Amino acid sequence: MIKSTKKIDFDIVIIGAGLSGLSLAIEIIKRTKFTVLLLEKKRKLQKDKNWCFWNYPKNIFTTKYDNSWKNIKISANKEEIIKSDEYFKYLRLSSDRFYNLSIKILKNNNNFKVKLNSKIKKISEKKGFVNILVNDETVTCKMLFNSIPRPIVSNELKQHFLGLEVTSNKKVFNDKEVTLMDFQENNKLIHFFYVLPFSKNKALIESTYFSKTVYNEKKYIRDIKLYLSEKYPDCYFNFGFKEKGVLPMYSNKEKSLSNLIIPIGQTSNWIKISTGYCFQNAFEKSYQIVNKLINNSKISTKQRFINKFLDEIFCEFLSRYPGSAQNFFYNFFKYLNIKTIVFFLTEKQNFWDILKILKVLPKKELIISTFFLFLKKINYASRY
Ligand SMILES: Cc1cc2nc3c(=O)[nH]c(=O)nc-3n(C[C@H](O)[C@H](O)[C@H](O)COP(=O)(O)OP(=O)(O)OC[C@H]3O[C@@H](n4cnc5c(N)ncnc54)[C@H](O)[C@@H]3O)c2cc1C
Repeated sequence: MIKSTKKIDFDIVIIGAGLSGLSLAIEIIKRTKFTVLLLEKKRKLQKDKNWCFWNYPKNIFTTKYDNSWKNIKISANKEEIIKSDEYFKYLRLSSDRFYNLSIKILKNNNNFKVKLNSKIKKISEKKGFVNILVNDETVTCKMLFNSIPRPIVSNELKQHFLGLEVTSNKKVFNDKEVTLMDFQENNKLIHFFYVLPFSKNKALIESTYFSKTVYNEKKYIRDIKLYLSEKYPDCYFNFGFKEKGVLPMYSNKEKSLSNLIIPIGQTSNWIKISTGYCFQNAFEKSYQIVNKLINNSKISTKQRFINKFLDEIFCEFLSRYPGSAQNFFYNFFKYLNIKTIVFFLTEKQNFWDILKILKVLPKKELIISTFFLFLKKINYASRY
């Protein structure tokens, strides 16, 4: 696919030094001789989030974590389940460490260049080349990977959250255990807290909703303060680093208009819509892209049909039956073992895992959700 004799500046340009851009750059530099330019609009790559991911499947960051937890907790309807597995761990990596480590790996290679503070003004394709007007110069390349995120659609379901790193005056957190979901009483909304203890007195507490409406920042902060005051009435907390996000719980329509300009990351559905996880996906998709580059074949990073279908049914179900979500997640964690859960979350499940997953889900609601999902798809297909 990359073949030409015209003068170019780089073989490949990647827009965005975030998760997908950096993971793809690392994979290209590691496995090919292509020259790569990474363009990023930020002036500095600073901490903007914490990435959590399972220690399976492995990638180059699996051993570089800041925290590792064996015990996983889910609380719903005043009950809780704690699960663990000797092989599967939940890991945290602070994004600034991810950015620094990635740039360090990349800068060791002469084929790589990064330009921060890059404003993309125009992207165009002409005679088999891509021209990018960046700041006031034009860069020409043979192939462009673009991770500029698509705007979030207002009338679709999304996962929205804000997290605060808090430090307590007492050792109140169980640093061996991560709380993936601590559901709050609510029949109309899906609302839970996510608690990542970094130590016995420091944790990231996140207030998360699955709904179509996103709130003002103050609401999530109020939620967190109330949660802490109810759970730890005898403690004082200092509030530090803040992270927030709005992640799609719907699939972006994948219409590739060009073989030379390829969307990656959020825009290209690398974030699993039923969970919001993307970390491992980014490494897997980057690996697949580089395979295609090496083999000179058409690049596509589409999700497997069965995985996409399951994700879309889950999200349709959550959108239609928010009041059933607590029981749904509770049963999911109660009846499935960690291995099956991790395989589902990382899209490594086999046929028997899928049967196990379907068995624990509420049948009537699931059939209705599947029916409405089909209607949506037929409606969409007839319009385009
Ligand atoms: C707060 C937060 C926490 C998350 N936690 C997890 C987690 O624990 N585990 C997990 O698996 N997933 C998590 N996710 C989801 C997912 O991993 C991230 O959203 C991930 O960053 C998506 O990767 P990306 O490359 O698509 O986007 P990004 O990482 O956001 O990268 C896009 C890059 O493009 C740059 N950019 C944008 N526009 C331009 C432009 N015009 N010109 C040049 N550059 C541009 C941006 O500045 C950014 O650096 C989280 C998301 C958020 C927001």
